[in-house]
Amino acid sequence: MQKTELSAPAHFIRQIVANDLQSSKHNGNVVTRFPPEPNGYLHIGHAKSICLNFGTALENNGKCNLRFDDTNPEKESIEYMESIKRDVAWLGFEWTRLCHASDYFEQLYQYAVDLIKQNLAYVDSLSAEDIRLYRGTLTQPGRESPDRNRSIEENLDLFSRMRAGEFADGQYVLRAKIDMASPNINLRDPAIYRIRRVHHQRTGDAWCIYPMYDYTHCISDAIEGITHSLCTLEFEDHRPLYDWVLDKLQTPCHPQQIEFARLQLEYTIVSKRKLNQLVTEKHVSGWDDPRMPTIAGLRRAGFTPQAIKDFCERIGITKQNSWIEMGVLEYCIREDLNTNAFRAMAVLNPLRIVITNYPDDKVEQLEVSNHPQKEAYGKRIVPFSKTILIERDDFSENPPPKYKRLIQGEEVRLRGAYVIRCNDVIKNDADDIIELHCTYDENTLGKNPEGRKAKGVIHWVSQAQSLPAEIRLYDRLFTVPQPDNEDNFLDVVNPHSLQILRDCRVEASLHSATLENRYQFERTGYFCLDLDSTCDKLVFNRTVTLRDNGEKD
Ligand code: ATP
Ligand code: MG
Repeated sequence: MQKTELSAPAHFIRQIVANDLQSSKHNGNVVTRFPPEPNGYLHIGHAKSICLNFGTALENNGKCNLRFDDTNPEKESIEYMESIKRDVAWLGFEWTRLCHASDYFEQLYQYAVDLIKQNLAYVDSLSAEDIRLYRGTLTQPGRESPDRNRSIEENLDLFSRMRAGEFADGQYVLRAKIDMASPNINLRDPAIYRIRRVHHQRTGDAWCIYPMYDYTHCISDAIEGITHSLCTLEFEDHRPLYDWVLDKLQTPCHPQQIEFARLQLEYTIVSKRKLNQLVTEKHVSGWDDPRMPTIAGLRRAGFTPQAIKDFCERIGITKQNSWIEMGVLEYCIREDLNTNAFRAMAVLNPLRIVITNYPDDKVEQLEVSNHPQKEAYGKRIVPFSKTILIERDDFSENPPPKYKRLIQGEEVRLRGAYVIRCNDVIKNDADDIIELHCTYDENTLGKNPEGRKAKGVIHWVSQAQSLPAEIRLYDRLFTVPQPDNEDNFLDVVNPHSLQILRDCRVEASLHSATLENRYQFERTGYFCLDLDSTCDKLVFNRTVTLRDNGEKD
């Protein structure tokens, strides 16, 4: 991990804001907003925008609003709004105001009337298809609609009747009158209102006309007194329209739109529409499936707000679109969990060991520290007994060179307990190993054996006291780094992205595991409790392996 390359502490937006503060450009204020459309759950790309918007406000003693850009009611819902609020709050940010574009429907309407009165907007009866044809192309100028020169009076009348519901959906649109020959297609008389009879999750059936995104966004920003309107690069070509609307309407303030590159993360998709498809077509169990790059999915997988914020800071803010390696996100969560996760032992694929020289009914309560570097995390009790379970692949009959785990005739240390030696391998008729018979050296608790050293350390649980658990291991959701570039991203969904291990055993202390805690299961990775857990069966998700090459420590 090359930290220097990734961290960009003084990115260009921080510089712009610092300069503006110095020159008192916006009267010394910094007001930003995070403006999601509530048509899906937030994803890791949104986290970048959230960290930037809320972070910019926090760093400058400013304000940041959470604004729902809710002008497309057919795709939006209260469920999505609730999830967005939950996710922003979970990341640790507090909005100054909770706003909705729909709060401004009346003002937006009056501003449109204002444009009509200035002869800067007209009601057009061209069909959607004709509007597209008339618009021209990058090489050809557009053509003016026959309705472009409708009188102001007639436009005012038609627009008020659009609102009153006198016309069918699609019969008319209101268009800004700008320049059909502009090299910027966004300025060729864009539609700013359309007729759409859909129930709105907040305004109900009060409106049958809805304002378009570009028109709504700049005015909403101005109404809220936003100083820096931070958005992604695809809106760069829309900035002239943003500025045109605000200039013509002489709104009380004129926010400054600044564009930055979208986050694109390898092996994932960051588009609500496509994520929605994964959910509705059941490629995943829901928006919060731990394989999803949504905030809810990352949370369920065990990611922490700190790791996500660290990631957003590390990738920096630039104007160049680029793909970020998954390893960067994994690095951030490992850093956090290595420092903060409780240690515990879990055996994913158990193999029984009988310690033949250990007393039959004895159970020792060993004290094991919860974190090797953090004394404050204290110790827990781990029971030790005659029958224990180890990981099946921590024993080998044909060990490769440098194998540091258990082999017949050799010794290994059990983490936090004794050194054992494997004497016999017990098999069934089918030649499968059923158990190992070992002996332990009672003088090796917390110290090396006399005159020799056990080669490796393996983890274990006591069979009788351990708890049954299901452990879910996740892999990338897509088989190629840039699934978005495929003809159909569904063709490259990884069919092996979820592996469920149903016969795992975890140490007894995990009966008190909580959804908030994170655990390092010794040698197998970082885990968290899943909300599918019940009293009878614990379910854990693997957040990430211990190392990025999957190598064990
Ligand atoms: P999607 O295609 O996922 O719906 P969007 O841009 O349409 O993305 P919005 O709900 O409009 O989603 O986004 C809210 C804010 O988050 C916008 O300012 C948008 O620019 C920003 N945003 C969305 N995706 C990303 C991303 N991948 N990287 C950075 N910012 C993003
Ligand atoms: Mg959108």
